[in-house]
Amino acid sequence: MAGIQIGKVFSPYVTDSYQRCPALWDKSRRVQLVSQKKYTAMLIGSAVALGLERHYKGFPDGQEKAEELVEAQYQEGSDRTLRGVKNLTKQGIELGMATNLGVTKIEAVEQFFGNIKPDLVAREKDELVVIDHKVKVNLKDEYLEKELQTFDCGNQMLHYAWAVGAEYGEPVERVYIHMIVLAPAPKTLLHPVKMTSERIQLWLQGVAKDWVEMEAITKRQGIAGTRFSSCIGKYGPCDMYELCHSFNGDEQAALTSGLYEPVAKRW
Ligand code: SF4
Repeated sequence: MAGIQIGKVFSPYVTDSYQRCPALWDKSRRVQLVSQKKYTAMLIGSAVALGLERHYKGFPDGQEKAEELVEAQYQEGSDRTLRGVKNLTKQGIELGMATNLGVTKIEAVEQFFGNIKPDLVAREKDELVVIDHKVKVNLKDEYLEKELQTFDCGNQMLHYAWAVGAEYGEPVERVYIHMIVLAPAPKTLLHPVKMTSERIQLWLQGVAKDWVEMEAITKRQGIAGTRFSSCIGKYGPCDMYELCHSFNGDEQAALTSGLYEPVAKRW
């Protein structure tokens, strides 16, 4: 994009974290909250995505591969039984495979574009589009619209359009959320997020500046400041709440307390 200096590019997930609170992103690279309860929604989403990836790559073993993933990563004491996770995964793959995506050609399946990996790059006639599967294990109809709106301005969608468009040398017209809802009323739908080069440029102006700051912090040339206005979100306190508010940011004290553990101990 003209006039915007792009240095190191960070993934949408970590950019989200940094924009919520620089300290959250920075601390999450080293410590994590010891979870009392093991949640399976993320595992179900990953397994469904794997099943759909195999399907769109033309392999008949999507259910089998997804079940293998669930068996390998399921932890005893989770919020659902192993059987329940397998059943929900199977249902999600079946639902996802049945969705009419309305595309005329699949260009790429789970292919890396820099540090992003969209589920599908496809064509609607001549137009380039990106499709991303999102699994919601439980989402009531009255919350569906609001949930979909959260994707309209998401870093992930804009980053997909920017990176895929650059690779193909042509604009991505839309990024679709392929929403797969498992309960209480199973359904799928496609939610289009319209892209324009002006919109991508405006987004890039903001994130490029954040990426410069993030790189400086990783090189110990900058400080990851706290953002107390983000400490309590719509789903409750930030995972680093006790670290910041009981241990005043002292990671070693938080680790010693047993409330936190070094990263990469959990799936
Ligand atoms: S508790 Fe607040 S200040 Fe600390 S990392 Fe989380 S959002 Fe940032």
